[in-house]
Amino acid sequence: PTAPWPILRIRGLGVSFGGFQALTDVDFDARKGEVHFLIGPNGAGKTTLVDIITGLTRPTTGSVLFDDVELVGHKEHRIVHLGVGRSFQAATVFEALSVEENLDIAASFRLPLRRLLRQRRGTRPEVAEALEVTGLAPYADRPAGALAHGQKQWLEIGMLLTQKPRLLLLDEPVAGMSPDERTRTGELVRYVARDCTVLVVEHDMDFMRRFADRVTVLHEGKVLKADATVAEVQADPVVQEVYIGR
Ligand code: ADP
Repeated sequence: PTAPWPILRIRGLGVSFGGFQALTDVDFDARKGEVHFLIGPNGAGKTTLVDIITGLTRPTTGSVLFDDVELVGHKEHRIVHLGVGRSFQAATVFEALSVEENLDIAASFRLPLRRLLRQRRGTRPEVAEALEVTGLAPYADRPAGALAHGQKQWLEIGMLLTQKPRLLLLDEPVAGMSPDERTRTGELVRYVARDCTVLVVEHDMDFMRRFADRVTVLHEGKVLKADATVAEVQADPVVQEVYIGR
């Protein structure tokens, strides 16, 4: 079978912070519609890589092509506008606003005011969809600040979903979650990947095994294994060494 189109192509990426080389010659592809896990021990450079893709950090060398558009050199808001969404470890939600208001605001960013006012009268379709798939519909009127930790993470993913991203970067989405919440998060990620490529930075190996299509392993700023299957990663003695022998 032909592999899906590599919507994200990273080539020769390197960055140093005051002489410390945090990433060296990083190459990898993520294909359209796949859930691609980015794993590696602490300090491997995962967050730095996500910061570069989203325009927070400028690389010293290399290229990030998203759907044939070079992202390096663009500002964060421009990259969001190109269809790249990102979640953070501590969910970024408006705590004092209700769940539905959070989704509504997220969905409004790219809308002209006239359309926004018209749509305010009822729940707009993308907000209704986000309420549904995150399981937060029963909490629509509750302040986001009153949600449990896992629900807040789902709200953030729901907010990103309303913006119709084509690439979604999730930073340790299941950290601090119960086994049930992890399963629900994995199902939500699979749902999101129907229309979107998802790049997941994660430490949880069990979660990776259950929900990854492809995996890239970083170690000390270099790619140890690019674009591999879960089975290939699990069978790789060097990857095992990095995880178990550290
Ligand atoms: P990971 O997310 O895989 O744990 P990071 O990308 O956070 O790894 O960090 C990779 C390395 O780069 C670490 O050694 C970290 O200390 C260093 N680093 C990251 N950002 C900076 C920065 N702004 N200045 C200096 N060093 C940094």
